Amino acid sequence: MRPHILFPLFAEVSALPGVGPKVAQLIEKLAGPKVVDLLWHLPSGLIDRRHAPTVADAEVGRVATLTVRVEGHIPPPTTHRAPYRVRCADDTGTIDLIYFHGNREWLTKILPVGATRVVSGRVDIFQSLRQIAHPDYVEPADRLDEVAAVEPVYPMTAGLAPKTLARAVAAAVERAPDLPEWQDPAWRDRQGWPAWREAVAAAHAPESEADLAPLAPARARLAYDEILANQLALALVRASMRRLPGRSLCGDVRLQSRAEAALPFSLTPSQRMAVAEIMGDMAAETRMLRLLQGDVGSGKTVVALFAMLAAVEVGAQAALLAPTEILARQHLETLQPLAAAAGVRVEVLTGRDKGRRRAEVLAGLADGSVHIAVGTHALLTEDVAFHDLALAVIDEQHRFGVHQRLGLTRKGRAVDVLVMTATPIPRTLQLTAYGDMDVSRLTDKPPGRQPVDTRTVPLDRIGEVAEGVARQLERGAKVFWVCPLVEESEAVDLAAATERYELLRERFGARVGLVHGRLKGGEKDAVMAAFANGGVDVLVATTVIEVGVNVPAATVMVVEHAERFGLAQLHQLRGRIGRGDRPATCILLYQHPLGEAARARLAMLRATDDGFRIAEEDLRLRGAGEVLGTRQSGLPAFRLADLDAHADLLAAARDDARLILTRDPDLAGDRGQALRVLLYLFERDAAVKYLRSG
Ligand code: ADP
Ligand code: MG
Repeated sequence: MRPHILFPLFAEVSALPGVGPKVAQLIEKLAGPKVVDLLWHLPSGLIDRRHAPTVADAEVGRVATLTVRVEGHIPPPTTHRAPYRVRCADDTGTIDLIYFHGNREWLTKILPVGATRVVSGRVDIFQSLRQIAHPDYVEPADRLDEVAAVEPVYPMTAGLAPKTLARAVAAAVERAPDLPEWQDPAWRDRQGWPAWREAVAAAHAPESEADLAPLAPARARLAYDEILANQLALALVRASMRRLPGRSLCGDVRLQSRAEAALPFSLTPSQRMAVAEIMGDMAAETRMLRLLQGDVGSGKTVVALFAMLAAVEVGAQAALLAPTEILARQHLETLQPLAAAAGVRVEVLTGRDKGRRRAEVLAGLADGSVHIAVGTHALLTEDVAFHDLALAVIDEQHRFGVHQRLGLTRKGRAVDVLVMTATPIPRTLQLTAYGDMDVSRLTDKPPGRQPVDTRTVPLDRIGEVAEGVARQLERGAKVFWVCPLVEESEAVDLAAATERYELLRERFGARVGLVHGRLKGGEKDAVMAAFANGGVDVLVATTVIEVGVNVPAATVMVVEHAERFGLAQLHQLRGRIGRGDRPATCILLYQHPLGEAARARLAMLRATDDGFRIAEEDLRLRGAGEVLGTRQSGLPAFRLADLDAHADLLAAARDDARLILTRDPDLAGDRGQALRVLLYLFERDAAVKYLRSG
């Protein structure tokens, strides 16, 4: 339950004075629906109105607050589209207030001739006369002190007046209660940070540009609070997982040895290391939660197989969850011969398996005669039950949410989890998304791989590219032809792919196949199979081949409109070729003219095939939130913290969280109680449930 002290902050913004339903809607769009969301909506700039000179001294181009006398009104002649002028002056000079489409009645009311007014705005000069166009303030003379101040400037949305928003934020700040201190006092002192309430107030009242910097004390403190809430929440989930009764799965490597003997290659050193780390986790009494990270083509599937065999060796079952039908079937193809050599039964289960076949698989899973299940979301449905599921392997993590991961683990007893990802997640992101999840990394590629020769070619030379493809085909090559992502509409993408398919078919005949997301499962398989080892040599594809597809004979890839793809996506695509021992070529066709960012992406791809460098660069070009697709990945979107600017704080918060839970695992002490408030403040409510005495 959320602590009472936070109630005012979790009220709807419409509870604030001056916020009606319409304004509330705009605020919700901009910042969020709750009062607390306004606290997190920090200023992006400021206007300093403290410059209050005489008219003669007012600097051109600078915001000034002047005290002037209204001398007279100069309405525009009706025939001209000139602005309305109000002439003002002080003892040193004259200045005009300019209003385009000025309303005479209103202007005479707020600026009556003979009155003294405080006006504030940017001073310009026009035909050697000073002027302010549309002053931000026109107030009675006694309000000088209020106007001549520093004003925060907020990120805005259309339709919301800056003053309205500023007033709402001020009201929200007003409501911020004094909260108990959750930070370690010694650490806070050393950083020179204010208490929470002061920090909120100060962050919304910058006095200078320096106060807007990410490491300004008020902002740094709030960022740290947010990161600490994130790290503490992750640490709590993790600690509770560790407390869950695990089971020690100590295989005797009997099945692993048989599978290894059937492998046409030997494992790379990092594959061996990963297998050893995984076996260590599985043998331990605690639950495994391990991330297996390896660039495309680094051979994660075999590692997963060894882990799954270890589970089977002790008489339990394993499941591998894949994001797409094609991938599930491909995993099956890789696993089946090796499993068969070890005498282990593997079955696939996807949305396509219906009727008798599905019933058979379900029966096999329930009675334990099927040892390993490979499948898609279909594995998660209610009626899928296992005899004794002990290990869940989840491929290409980003497509699955946390609850799906849990959905699978609930089907067994003390299920160990291995998550496989091809996206080399930079360290900072990894920490925020997974906390201290254990990581195994495949750093070396299988031997004999040759770097892919990557070229960029303008689209208008597509004819030459087709001729090049023809020559390669004569030499027995297999070619991926990837069609552009035109827009977020499958139908439009499909039309483009179909058109290309038909053109290529005119040129190359029946050797051309087409695969896309709309094909029925069986048709998809047939085309993929024909490409892998049949009569199809050119596979026209939409991005359905994006993840995981493995056709070692494919040595050429053409990507149309490469400028429309993201860096990581292109890297993943390119990873589909160069898997065999023959040299491979990737041709990135682009449309003139190339924008700055697209040019940088293509240059990066030509320069390297190091997935890690590419991921870091991708992060730099796109920013953290987007890289992993925040929502899907469960990556928290930070409101206050900036993973670049606050990277050091992230490391500190991780250590802090670890120490906190070592000392006070139930958050029962004084600081512990304060930390609970922190968790609620940043809406990590779910994490609180993981406390033993929630
Ligand atoms: P990914 O990490 O992208 O999932 P895969 O597991 O699909 O990679 O493996 C890619 C290809 O590399 C497969 O054809 C697989 O058989 C092969 N492979 C895996 N490990 C090795 C190895 N140690 N030596 C040679 N080839 C390997
Ligand atoms: Mg894979």
